[in-house]
Amino acid sequence: MFLGQGTVVRSVGSFYRVLLKHSPDKPIECTLRGKIRLQNLKTTNPIAVGDKVLISRESTGEPVITEILPRTNYILRKATNLSKQEHILCANIDQLLLIITLSSPATTLGFIDRILVTAEAYHIPTRLIINKIDLIPEIFHEELKKYINIYESIGYDVYALSALDTNAQDTIRGILSNRISFLIGLSGSGKSTIINRAEPSLNLKVGSLSNFSNQGKHITTFAEMHQLPNLGGAVINAPGVREFSLTGFQKNEIGQWFPEIRSRMHQCKFSNCLHLNEPACAVKEAVQNQKIATSRYNSYVGMLQHND
Ligand code: GDP
Ligand code: ZN
Repeated sequence: MFLGQGTVVRSVGSFYRVLLKHSPDKPIECTLRGKIRLQNLKTTNPIAVGDKVLISRESTGEPVITEILPRTNYILRKATNLSKQEHILCANIDQLLLIITLSSPATTLGFIDRILVTAEAYHIPTRLIINKIDLIPEIFHEELKKYINIYESIGYDVYALSALDTNAQDTIRGILSNRISFLIGLSGSGKSTIINRAEPSLNLKVGSLSNFSNQGKHITTFAEMHQLPNLGGAVINAPGVREFSLTGFQKNEIGQWFPEIRSRMHQCKFSNCLHLNEPACAVKEAVQNQKIATSRYNSYVGMLQHND
């Protein structure tokens, strides 16, 4: 018996929690009907949070997902650093919010840039939230401005705030309302705190600061979608992220996912320029003239070296 169309809001092992369009208050725990499992062999998970699915009740009474509707977008990452397998982080999102902390924990520029490149490649609008600015001492405020400027000058919206501060509520609500947002950032960067600040009734569990540095490296991460009843829209939170590796990129395409490289690469002498040691390279020239941030260029070179 056909039950309806719904959205996958949680996936743990082979169980999927689905919110039906016509009864969003009663989530249904489903499994996958066997034959769907055969598709999508390359990814470790055939269905991701955010997926739109059709569900039916089997004659045994068990609710099952019978079909995955086409995705408007999705984000893939490597399942683990060493594996060739890929993991779908989420599907059908309106925006990606990259949560950054300069300390506790320190988010590296490489981590930020690998996520931004991935989001560019999947054409997902991305905003950056620098959280925990209350922990940044006055003497580092110039440093913070430089950081913000790197990304604003490329065209990203950057917000600097402290999720612990009640005054940040309006800003956070403005960012989250009426959209499906995917929050990504290191474990401990304050994703749950940010979501709670927007929608206190969700009351998500907040990790203690002492925890995140001690946790093992291989915790299972599973994303979960939370509806925002007062704001409209929903958030997908991906807890436990410690690293982010690129997957599925050709060396010669990575440059085009850096907006500031993309806008200059056609001025390079060689059309297949990788912007490493080639003569008359407009990208390297822009780095020398400080039109492209050295940190961004270094991230680019790092991605070429570690992409196989
Ligand atoms: P998540 O793992 O990204 O979801 O991070 P949590 O929301 O669980 O936050 C991790 C820790 O950082 C908790 O102890 C929070 O109270 C703390 N935290 C979150 N936002 C801020 C902030 O703006 N300033 C400070 N000082 N601590 C924060
Ligand atoms: Zn070049």
